[in-house]
Amino acid sequence: MPPASGIYVDGEWVESSTGETTGVEDPATGETVGEIHVASASDAERAIEAAVGAQAEWAATPGPERGAILRRTGELLAERKDGVAETLTREEGKTLAEASGEVQRAVDIFHYYGEKAREIGGTVKAASSSEKRLRTEKEPLGTVSLITPWNYPIAIPAWKLAPALATGNTAVLKPATVAPGPSRAIVECLAEAGLPAGVANYVTGSGSELGPVLTEHEDVDGVSFTGSTVVGTGVYQSAAADMKRVQCEMGGKNPTVVAPSADFEAAVEAVGAGAFGVTGQACTACSRAVVHEDVYDEFVSAVADYAESLTVGSGLDDVDMGPHVTADELESTLEYVDIARDEGATLVTGGGRPSDDDAAAGHFVEPTVFADVESDMRIAREEVFGPVLAVIEVSDLDEAIAVANDVEFGLSASIFTQDLSETHAFTDRVEAGVAKVNEKTTGLELHVPFGGYKGSSTNTYREQGDAAIDFFTSTKTVYLNY
Ligand code: NAD
Repeated sequence: MPPASGIYVDGEWVESSTGETTGVEDPATGETVGEIHVASASDAERAIEAAVGAQAEWAATPGPERGAILRRTGELLAERKDGVAETLTREEGKTLAEASGEVQRAVDIFHYYGEKAREIGGTVKAASSSEKRLRTEKEPLGTVSLITPWNYPIAIPAWKLAPALATGNTAVLKPATVAPGPSRAIVECLAEAGLPAGVANYVTGSGSELGPVLTEHEDVDGVSFTGSTVVGTGVYQSAAADMKRVQCEMGGKNPTVVAPSADFEAAVEAVGAGAFGVTGQACTACSRAVVHEDVYDEFVSAVADYAESLTVGSGLDDVDMGPHVTADELESTLEYVDIARDEGATLVTGGGRPSDDDAAAGHFVEPTVFADVESDMRIAREEVFGPVLAVIEVSDLDEAIAVANDVEFGLSASIFTQDLSETHAFTDRVEAGVAKVNEKTTGLELHVPFGGYKGSSTNTYREQGDAAIDFFTSTKTVYLNY
């Protein structure tokens, strides 16, 4: 069995060269529930060297064989699903039901790309001569760095690792220091499934120490990053400096428009679930409800009732919403509550920490609704990354779309309407990489592209589905005369 922590380099679980470890805290209790080894820049370099050393042989391994290892990884992860979901809840805080759904997502992703590995190929086109053949082939990029956030600590590592490996790349994964256990489980399952040494490597530690190596090293051919816009912007600049392929998926400020014709109850439910699910710590969380004046008052009252109906507590208990992941994230949300009040928004419900004694040790916050929000307020423009909903009143669809687009982000956006013209106007004109009709902003299918517009993404390549295959491969065009 591998040790409970450590970094994984060239097929071995080893201690980091610093010899330092740092604890992983349960956000519901403050207890230490795990540890990570703090890797150094030289550990990251060793991991890259191991990946580079393993790349040619892995690329030469037939796709179906690579796929079989990925499918086996999915099976092993499925066998460990309950334990991994519990680890996820203990480290990140989301409820066990949410964590379990996320682990299942990772399982499904490994099966999906396990099958895809068979199909990776190219196209054949008609050539300008009958004695010529023209075709394209997809080749792996080489060695890739995968940098992931804490908020989906197994789904995001899975949706980067699985397509990277399926296409014949080797990889170094660096998860967030908060909630590293679930991605470690993936690496353990990959090793048990027979992945050759060096193909997937795993380093933990500070982003500012490891990030520059992972994004700038001359032997790294591609960088896939998910995280905040501020860090992603720096990652993009440093990775693109020597023409590496790079994709960064970053923050959001996702709107749901509620039209007068909407199925009202469905809209309230979707906005509530989108705003407060996973404690609002989703890049696709609904943080703005843009509501037509005809249903505005009724909507504010109903969504506040929804927020007040939620139970808040440890994700291991039978609750609707877990804690914030860290004290810093909690602090940031509470600061935004003050900012919104100072800006003149009306606090309808929540805005503080739950008062019961059990909540004192954890990073809990109440589901919060602000009304009378104007589109130019910070609460309507900046990513809060907590369970805080801003409700904005509008008088027609044009204004709703203008408000929806009036932010630097463009990740996910939805509308609730029964009007076909409104549906088309919205999906045509909304500036978002994901546009949904009569559905919450959160929740993604794994076989279609995912990514943002504007400040939410480098908008280079999408993730997931076939888009991930495109990101992790280069296209070679073959002219064959005979
Ligand atoms: P973060 O940007 O702080 O960290 C993300 C990762 O980058 C971590 O592994 C971190 O250690 C690493 N990192 C930090 N400094 C680095 C550097 N200088 N160079 C390279 N890597 C560095 O983000 P977070 O707090 O972990 O996650 C929350 C953010 O992620 C939110 O903004 C959220 O919207 C975003 N997110 C986006 C998506 C998406 O698909 N668009 C999905 C989930 C989360």
